[in-house]
Amino acid sequence: MSSIADRLKNVSISASAAMTQRARELAARGIKVVSLSSGEPDFPTPAHAIEAAHAAALSGDTKYPPMDGTPALKAAVSRKFKRDNNLDYNASQIVVSGGGKQVIFNAMLATCNPGDEVVIPTPSWVSYADIVKFAGGIPVAVPCFEQAGFKLRPEDLEAAITPRTKWLILNFPNNPTGAACSRADMAAIAEVMHRHPQVWILTDDIYEFLIYGEFEFCTIADADPSLYDRVLTMNGVSKAYAMTGWRLGYCASGSKELIAAISNVNGQNGGGITTVTQAAAIAALDGPQDLLKERAAIYRERRDFVLGQLAKIEGLRCHKPDGAFYIYPNISGLIGKTTKGGRKIETDVDFVMALVDEHHVATVQGAAYGMSPYFRISYATSMEMLNEGCARIAQFCGDMR
Ligand code: PMP
Repeated sequence: MSSIADRLKNVSISASAAMTQRARELAARGIKVVSLSSGEPDFPTPAHAIEAAHAAALSGDTKYPPMDGTPALKAAVSRKFKRDNNLDYNASQIVVSGGGKQVIFNAMLATCNPGDEVVIPTPSWVSYADIVKFAGGIPVAVPCFEQAGFKLRPEDLEAAITPRTKWLILNFPNNPTGAACSRADMAAIAEVMHRHPQVWILTDDIYEFLIYGEFEFCTIADADPSLYDRVLTMNGVSKAYAMTGWRLGYCASGSKELIAAISNVNGQNGGGITTVTQAAAIAALDGPQDLLKERAAIYRERRDFVLGQLAKIEGLRCHKPDGAFYIYPNISGLIGKTTKGGRKIETDVDFVMALVDEHHVATVQGAAYGMSPYFRISYATSMEMLNEGCARIAQFCGDMR
């Protein structure tokens, strides 16, 4: 009898997708759901990117593209790395894929042998561990504690590395905590990595432009250029330019061997990215960049608003995030209580399920990101929704006994 591959046995369905599904079911019954669970900008894609895609399609740019990205897009990516990150990558060091997610997938598939360990600072985006498992590797969570601002402490990183470690994955600003790392923080991580020359470093910089206050984004290959040959710098247009649906991410590395292997997987796994998407990405990367700062200012206002509202709620404790568009409140003050609807809150899963069922606010449990008891709020939505969502959360928590 036919059966599904063993490699899928430990791979789960994303918890945020499951919550989005739950919210859709409620909405289909006519219930007004406040969705704070989605990890995508609520802004539109810039018009100049859409126009570039339109023009490309009309001009006949509709044939098979080069497997690893058009020369024009790679040139735009190369300019972006120089302009924003002070990094020199030429076209032969760049691969374009179907979203940052596919970059990570390709990189893990290209490098992980059974038993290879991938160190993942945690809380972390749900997909890293699943992708690593899919590729036959072993995800190793290294905790980033709230007391340390959810940042990766060098001593915790050091303790997590073994002779089997193949990769360290960095994601600052972070999904789900919003924690960001300064140049000095990155240099301290780099210092640990010098003692472990067999380990590659994947830096997922997808939230690069979602950074607040005096924080300055710094990627690890910029913080320590001596790591250039060991770093895979990953980014994409999804979060920065509100282009989640276009599906385009890219990566670059000083390691020719690594880029060749990723390019090989990329070619077999998709065969190149939609031509019109590539045209849109060039326009986004080369076009006016003012919208990045304008939108970051709006996100910052929303962050401050939500933090202010949540601070009034007894039982919640929020670390102030420096980036991304997430807040990760601690709910330990509510564990053991019972909701107005009679549900006992023993875990953060109980909390988010009761919240969506009783007050119709969709969020995601911390357990999905590997650290409890917390839940993730996305503030990539309107002030009106945030106001309503916070009011409902306050009511929900205030009614608990
Ligand atoms: N990395 C992180 C940390 C993310 O949160 C996401 C999207 N949720 C991605 C990568 C995927 O981005 P893309 O749309 O480019 O695949």
